[in-house]
Amino acid sequence: MEKLVILFSIFLTQLSVAQMAILGDPMEPVPTKITGVVDGKPPSDAIVLFDGKNMDAWEHVRTGKAPQWLIEDGILTVKNGTGTLVSKQHFRDIQMHIEWRPSGEVIGEGQSRGNSGIFMQSLFEIQMLDSWENPTYVNGQAGSVYHQYPPLVNAANPPGEWQNYDIIFSAPIYDRDGNLERPAFITLLHNGVLVLNHVEVLGSTFPRVPEYKATCEPYELGVTMDCTGKLPLLLQDHGQVVSFRNIWLREL
Ligand code: MG
Repeated sequence: MEKLVILFSIFLTQLSVAQMAILGDPMEPVPTKITGVVDGKPPSDAIVLFDGKNMDAWEHVRTGKAPQWLIEDGILTVKNGTGTLVSKQHFRDIQMHIEWRPSGEVIGEGQSRGNSGIFMQSLFEIQMLDSWENPTYVNGQAGSVYHQYPPLVNAANPPGEWQNYDIIFSAPIYDRDGNLERPAFITLLHNGVLVLNHVEVLGSTFPRVPEYKATCEPYELGVTMDCTGKLPLLLQDHGQVVSFRNIWLREL
């Protein structure tokens, strides 16, 4: 009996050694302590791209000049025709939060009602649209990867009400020769509801056929550039009145 107990003890010890080999030291690494979202405020390790005060984190897509969009009462609103914005800072993998609101004054229909969008790396559009009782092609409504994936459900609020996106984006990976090793992936929560579940992005939203290119021309930037590294985010001026607030992200 005593021998059996000893053998069993050895077995357990060997098991824990084997587990350590597979799982590593269970006490390391210690996750960094941060403050999460409290009362809607960004986490303590977030990069804030708009906090209601200024557009310092953004510039005009082509000229690099200060944006002409409007800020009133802490809210950023597209000034139609003044142009799309890009972030000054460039990113790869991110967790992003953005709150947006199509105009309460309903003008137009389909793609011409409350259209904007946030482009990951200026290449992959997550569509914003007034999708409240506004039929259009399904992979062009709010919560879609434009022209690629419709949302799992339509979680849109009525026009004039705030909505939010929480995005997890994994950038594509290229090898040294510029060949695609791994495509981009997007997970999206629209108003707290999962609408895109780790979808494999088929390529850049524009041109007509999605594609991955190590050297490419991001949407509206008007320049050909290395597209394998960090790139700016892009916020679309589609000619309709859409407002924004509380824009932040965390690099992953
Ligand atoms: Mg759009």
